[in-house]
Amino acid sequence: MKRYWRCFVCNDIHYGVKPPEICPTCGVRHAYVEVTSEEARKVGSLTEVEFTEADFRTAIERFTEGNEFRVTNDKERIDMLLAGIFNNERNHGLKYCPCRLACRDFAEDLKIVCPCNFLVHETYKGKEDGECWCGLFIRRKK
Ligand code: SF4
Ligand SMILES: [Zn+2]
Repeated sequence: MKRYWRCFVCNDIHYGVKPPEICPTCGVRHAYVEVTSEEARKVGSLTEVEFTEADFRTAIERFTEGNEFRVTNDKERIDMLLAGIFNNERNHGLKYCPCRLACRDFAEDLKIVCPCNFLVHETYKGKEDGECWCGLFIRRKK
């Protein structure tokens, strides 16, 4: 079961089955202590981090680095999908996939926050020219 962990040196928060061996923020080894979700939320809300559409573009580019997929080169498609993703965040609270409908079961809806785990999509899996359901991420040619 996933739990919350806090680095006792730099207050880095981690959510997962176990804490990282080395804190990715301060580099200290074996620095995490388990905390309540309340403590994790409070520590995490200390600094409001502005995150614009441009930041998201940069984030998804970075996310593809070293991965078997890349962001599509179709600029119009990117614009359209990102507009949908940000509309969903404004209207429904999270960056839900622009091609699918949230079902209002939060645990289920988390599966369609962009980027989702599209590696398992029929449109991607095992296909040489596979892509995520909406075509935002495309498998790199070998
Ligand atoms: S299908 Fe593509 S656009 Fe939709 S959430 Fe997944 S990664 Fe994002
Ligand atoms: Zn740390």
